[in-house]
Amino acid sequence: KKKEWAKLKNELSKSKDGVHVELAANIGTPNDLEGVKNNGAEGIGLYRTEFLYMGRDELPTEEEQFEAYKKVVEDMDGKPVVIRTLDIGGDKELPYLDLPKEMNPFLGFRAIRLCLEKDDIFRTQLRALLRASAFGNLKIMFPMIATLDEFRQAKALLEEEQEKLTKEGTEVSDSIELGIMVEIPSTAVMAPQFAKEVDFFSIGTNDLIQYTMAADRMNEQVSYLYQPYNPAILRLVKMVIDASHAEGKWTGMCGEMAGDETAIPLLLGLGLDEFSMSATSVLPARSQISQITKEEAEKAAEKALQLNTAEEVKQLVEKTFL
Ligand code: PEP
Ligand code: MG
Repeated sequence: KKKEWAKLKNELSKSKDGVHVELAANIGTPNDLEGVKNNGAEGIGLYRTEFLYMGRDELPTEEEQFEAYKKVVEDMDGKPVVIRTLDIGGDKELPYLDLPKEMNPFLGFRAIRLCLEKDDIFRTQLRALLRASAFGNLKIMFPMIATLDEFRQAKALLEEEQEKLTKEGTEVSDSIELGIMVEIPSTAVMAPQFAKEVDFFSIGTNDLIQYTMAADRMNEQVSYLYQPYNPAILRLVKMVIDASHAEGKWTGMCGEMAGDETAIPLLLGLGLDEFSMSATSVLPARSQISQITKEEAEKAAEKALQLNTAEEVKQLVEKTFL
């Protein structure tokens, strides 16, 4: 199998009937780039920038961030790189920010909520991203968006910083795509409205499943409720993809589910445009997709949406594809 996968390294990902989907990788630091290349990813679908802020005593400077983002987009040589703005809070803490303890950190002051409140931190990151955009194909993505208002506020800050940089004579790309993570059910439900304003969606199933099922993604005792194949999750995914396509936009997925062999045929059938996963999953996924026609994937997805339980969905996929 390894040999067969290696042959696919420099190929585009296509279904058996020739429909292209993008298989991208998730990274946490520029050090992960080697794995991205060795595994033939077509882009980076999620660069988690938290790691730049963690394991240190103070915030990273604009310059430090600029260097990291620039390295990644330059190394990827024109391939798409989706960089997510700071998603701290929840399970990821920053001791030097001295934030109050919370009863429910996953439902609390985290990610875009924190960035909109502490906008000095956010603006520094946005400036670093905007400057790096001149060196490659950089896309910006906001995490944990729950309302249109949050997206509009974040976008306004980005535009303010972009204008400042341009006035200062700093080069900034004029074609940066701006997207959001869909990881809160309200945003999936409102996807048709969001799709008019964003350039793309990336579905964060790690959190979307947790919030839809009300089951903490870290808690073993309720892990039986953490069900990627629950038809409720599939229906939300479908709503997001359909809403984006209705506006000529694209949808990716950067949660674990995107690299899962049981989910992949269904996601292909639902029309997912980009799958972003750990680099080591890219070649197995490319091989799997090459053996499925889009048409049979669509049929299976349609059936799955009408089933009652996660277990039934799993059995359907196993019987049809695995
Ligand atoms: C997600 O929630 O699916 C996701 C990709 O983000 P993270 O795992 O960093 O919360
Ligand atoms: Mg998340």
